[in-house]
Amino acid sequence: MATLTPTRTDPLSYLTDQLNQLKLKGTHFRLRVLEDEQAPVSTFDGKKVINLASNNYLGLTTHPKLREAALSATKKYGVGSGAVRTIAGTMKIHLELEERIAAFKNVEACVVFQSGFAANAGTVSAVLGKDDFIISDELNHASIIDGARLSKAKILVFRHKDMAHAEEHLASVKDQPGRKLLISDGVFSMDGDIGPLPSLCALAEKHGAIMMVDDAHASGVLGNSGRGTIDHFHVHGRVDVQVGTLSKAIGALGGYVCGSKDLVDYLYHRARPFLFSTSHPPAVAATCMAAFDVLEQEPERMERLWANTTYWKKELGTLGFNIGGINTPASETPITPIIIGEGKLTMEFSRELFKEGVLGTGIAFPTVPEGKARVRTIMTATHTREQLEQALEVLKRVGKRMGILP
Ligand SMILES: *Cc1c(COP(=O)(O)O)cnc(C)c1O
Repeated sequence: MATLTPTRTDPLSYLTDQLNQLKLKGTHFRLRVLEDEQAPVSTFDGKKVINLASNNYLGLTTHPKLREAALSATKKYGVGSGAVRTIAGTMKIHLELEERIAAFKNVEACVVFQSGFAANAGTVSAVLGKDDFIISDELNHASIIDGARLSKAKILVFRHKDMAHAEEHLASVKDQPGRKLLISDGVFSMDGDIGPLPSLCALAEKHGAIMMVDDAHASGVLGNSGRGTIDHFHVHGRVDVQVGTLSKAIGALGGYVCGSKDLVDYLYHRARPFLFSTSHPPAVAATCMAAFDVLEQEPERMERLWANTTYWKKELGTLGFNIGGINTPASETPITPIIIGEGKLTMEFSRELFKEGVLGTGIAFPTVPEGKARVRTIMTATHTREQLEQALEVLKRVGKRMGILP
């Protein structure tokens, strides 16, 4: 405001109006600030809390081998790559990571992007064009939706995991010359349920569609040593484009696309984040390589993750929270939503939990549909039973006090 001349009104004042509306609705938020490490107990806004909000599934953000890898790569190669991949920013360590991931996933080739978001948006928009069709689950991640919009292809959205509806869409365009892409999250990020890959693959095969799966929340979580949903369902060779993230269980930052050599070579030439945005610092590539070693060398991390997950879902259900699903929880993964419904109440619940020492982030519209606001909880391998018991105590107390629990 101070920089404006008296004769000029702020042309962005409508943003202030919209923020005020969010405040009235009770869904405006302030960013919580982490003051130490991303860990099962962390300090946010000066307060030590049990952290139920991070995607650090395996506790790798602070793993000594990963720290060491980052430090030594920084000493050896510096802090930045200096250019986009296609100009001068492809370092040997970037290629080594891509080869490591391709071998891990047992596919021909892999290309790493700056983030999972860039991987999805860059790939979908490069592979499809305006005469094509994208058949997409209604709960797919925003980066898939944005990629689909950028591609200018026609987007046909099917009801969540409804294969008959997906097939209806595929059948409706079968006489059209355009290419068809069938696309789903492997694990849905807000509900924690798993995409029906075997049925999706069968549909794609029947209708000659390209099959693409986004395994952001499945990487390091599902399948042998965390190879993802393709491995979990044994649908190897039936998914043409596999996306994964290096930002969640892998503990660092990035996204990758696995598939054929030509898919990857094509993305080198056409994926806009690859062409127009600088590649990872060497420390990131080195960290991720160390993470894949840890996935294979320390299977006990995944075991603890799943033991905590089973315990947590059982206890939350017993307390009487709505964790989605009718008789069995809808979530089949370490993501467990506590569904509250109303946005304002959800945000209040989250704030009260925080005051009592638990970080569970409230998530409302537009991240989830209107009326489906929730506190999303995520288990990790490194939460101790004692921490979880303590968190359950707080959830129970606050839940009862606010009338969320009977
Ligand atoms: C988190 C997420 C992404 C984005 O990954 P980043 O590496 O954080 O950019 C993409 N898809 C899904 C399903 C996600 O949950």
